[in-house]
Amino acid sequence: MDTVALKAPAKINLVLNVVNRRPDGYHEVRMVMQSIGLYDEITVSKSGDDRIVIESDAKGIPLNEDNLIYRAAALIRETCGIKDGVKITLKKNIPVAAGLAGGSTDAAATLKGMNELFDLGLSEDKLCKAGVKIGADVPYCIMGRTALSEGIGEVLTPLKGIPECGILIAKPGIDVSTGYVYKAFDSLKEKDHPDVDAMLKAVDEGDLFAIADNLGNSLEGVTEAEYPVIGKIKETMIGAGALGSLMSGSGPTVFGLFKDRDAACRAADIVKETGMAKDIAVAGPV
Ligand code: ATP
Repeated sequence: MDTVALKAPAKINLVLNVVNRRPDGYHEVRMVMQSIGLYDEITVSKSGDDRIVIESDAKGIPLNEDNLIYRAAALIRETCGIKDGVKITLKKNIPVAAGLAGGSTDAAATLKGMNELFDLGLSEDKLCKAGVKIGADVPYCIMGRTALSEGIGEVLTPLKGIPECGILIAKPGIDVSTGYVYKAFDSLKEKDHPDVDAMLKAVDEGDLFAIADNLGNSLEGVTEAEYPVIGKIKETMIGAGALGSLMSGSGPTVFGLFKDRDAACRAADIVKETGMAKDIAVAGPV
């Protein structure tokens, strides 16, 4: 086999609680993650030389050693003593710097692709242990689906899948630095700590209404204070029939949960008309 093709899904956070800041600067979190049917498409091929080359149509991301795909491929080559080079192609469909883990999911897919291409037989657990060196969300992206993520993101518990629904994704045309958002959160006197256990119960019961009622994100207030458009998109989604709406990750993407895909598509048209969002997509949970 000379080429492996993979689909790398985006994620949303149904709930994100920043528990505290550890002395080493990392933040301890407790979050329920959900992968969605919005994918980057990746192929990993043996190139015949000894380099790692990335080819992509993506705008605004580095295609050199700074790309998380490159770091993932290099890590596997180093750890497993592989000399062969690889060519990796990336078709970018997930908005960049959006809070949708675009880079982390690409890294996760690359780790899996290298494992398959070179027939390395690395277990999911081994891939996750390697992945956390690249980024805190990479282990979750390797596992995907619905999961509780704790620690700095490396302690994962798979959960029951959430009910079928429509998920509307809208990213305003602004870029948010994750580092800035966490720093601003640290300096808040009154911090928001959403109820993760209530979300776990709602997920376990397969109750979409309770899931929508318990959406929460410690970081939302920080990013929204800087960019009020986030609150306005949420309001628009609720007005357009969303059961609940929330900012994902450190933002600025806002998602809405709808009873089905058609309802999400109708709301997408309404959000589009306001001109508040640059990237809009409708997906389901995967
Ligand atoms: P998270 O939700 O994990 O915080 P994000 O969705 O906010 O992630 P990314 O799309 O992963 O953010 O991009 C963050 C930065 O990572 C980008 O500005 C980009 O320069 C860099 N980056 C490196 N590799 C990639 C990649 N393969 N795809 C996207 N961004 C990448």
